[in-house]
Amino acid sequence: MPALPKTNHLDPSAACRAVEVAEILTAVYPDRRSLLTFASPYQLMVAVILSAQTTDARVNTVTPELFRLYPTPASLASAKAAEIEKLVHSTGFFRNKARNIIGAAAAVQNRFHGRVPELMDDLVSIPGMGRKSANVIRGAVFGKPAIAVDTHLARVSNRLGLVNGKNPVVIEHELRALVPEAIQTDFSMAVNLHGRYRCYARNPDCAKCEVQDLCPYPGMV
Ligand code: SF4
Repeated sequence: MPALPKTNHLDPSAACRAVEVAEILTAVYPDRRSLLTFASPYQLMVAVILSAQTTDARVNTVTPELFRLYPTPASLASAKAAEIEKLVHSTGFFRNKARNIIGAAAAVQNRFHGRVPELMDDLVSIPGMGRKSANVIRGAVFGKPAIAVDTHLARVSNRLGLVNGKNPVVIEHELRALVPEAIQTDFSMAVNLHGRYRCYARNPDCAKCEVQDLCPYPGMV
């Protein structure tokens, strides 16, 4: 049996449970592709920035026209803010988002030769791009181990007793210590989906939960 990764400070069995959770939930959710529609790293970068504070489905309603009119980083970098604001209006926070996607396109065009970078430090230097977004891109288009901490992953990981806290950066690092690199992206995506479809923020469906036996949460409520 391969050596298990270093456990976190909460529970010496956490690493084993994390691996078991990953095995079960990757079987429960075999289709773990991003819910955002994209056809290139550039398109995913823009879609991820637009997805802040809204649903992926909502983003998918505006990106086809956006990418038809602005198919490359160079074209979006030179767009007028007012035109982009109109296109992304329904995603909310449209002024910030328009500014960020124009800025992100300019950064990619001017600093990274028109190609979305692969390195975490480069990605988080792009306007509108936090660690969660950078991890989504690294996992989905570059095949890198990615723990993308959003509200779902944070909530379910806490309930499962794998982490203890709300800080997304701390959660990411604690999960990276628990979950072997080879399955980090699958773990992240599967747990995210479990948060959407079973472990709801209010009234999680613990009675039907596939990882109930591994979860201390029902016993705590
Ligand atoms: S048992 Fe309940 S709290 Fe635990 S992961 Fe499942 S749905 Fe969430």
